[in-house]
Amino acid sequence: MVSGVERTGVNAAYVLSVLNAGGVPLVLSPLIGAGHNAELVESLDGLVLSGGEDVAPEHYGAAAHPALGDVDPVRDAFELELFRDARARGLPVLAICRGIQLVNVALGGSLWQDIPSERPGALQHTHRGGREDRTHAVQIEPGSSLARALGTTRLEVNSFHHQSIRELAPGLVVSGSAPDGEIEGAESPPGDPWLLAVQWHPEEFHRDARAPDQGLFHELIRVAGARKERETARTG
Ligand code: MN
Repeated sequence: MVSGVERTGVNAAYVLSVLNAGGVPLVLSPLIGAGHNAELVESLDGLVLSGGEDVAPEHYGAAAHPALGDVDPVRDAFELELFRDARARGLPVLAICRGIQLVNVALGGSLWQDIPSERPGALQHTHRGGREDRTHAVQIEPGSSLARALGTTRLEVNSFHHQSIRELAPGLVVSGSAPDGEIEGAESPPGDPWLLAVQWHPEEFHRDARAPDQGLFHELIRVAGARKERETARTG
């Protein structure tokens, strides 16, 4: 709600990051509902799952922790379905913050619902600083899609999350970790449709074309373009 009016949309940083990378961003509202996914997915070349509310724990068979944040059942339903349909069609997916959590849940994994209370001794993963403040390190698996997209195997990242991956879903591999062991990057194994998921916010660096983080969007657009070419060649 903004000034008493219901709104739907995403932070401009996501749209600008896709544009910077040469893509044409379409913002999909969860209010569309899950009934139109076939048409939606048909019209897309790739999917970005953005940050936001906590995924409702019922989706991974857990009871709500007292420190669970806001949940949005309409958005959960829309995005879980959209992700499954996008995967079934082989679309490349870039999942960010809530996105990495949603993807993990959709594929059968679970989440820590509140890092500060459930993971004593963990680093601080939320803070009140600027959106581009890099507050903790991430070690990146050499040879991973994440390393390729970033062009590095170590990066300081921004961090605005109180949840994270607990049990990793089958079909995902860890490709980035914080020094406290929190999973900060996960991806599909080689041979599966391209899926890259990060717990930090690479879109916030859209003003800096040289930021390694923006490489995630460039890689998404590159993979989406290559897939489209293959599809076009196949169907004539
Ligand atoms: Mn973090």
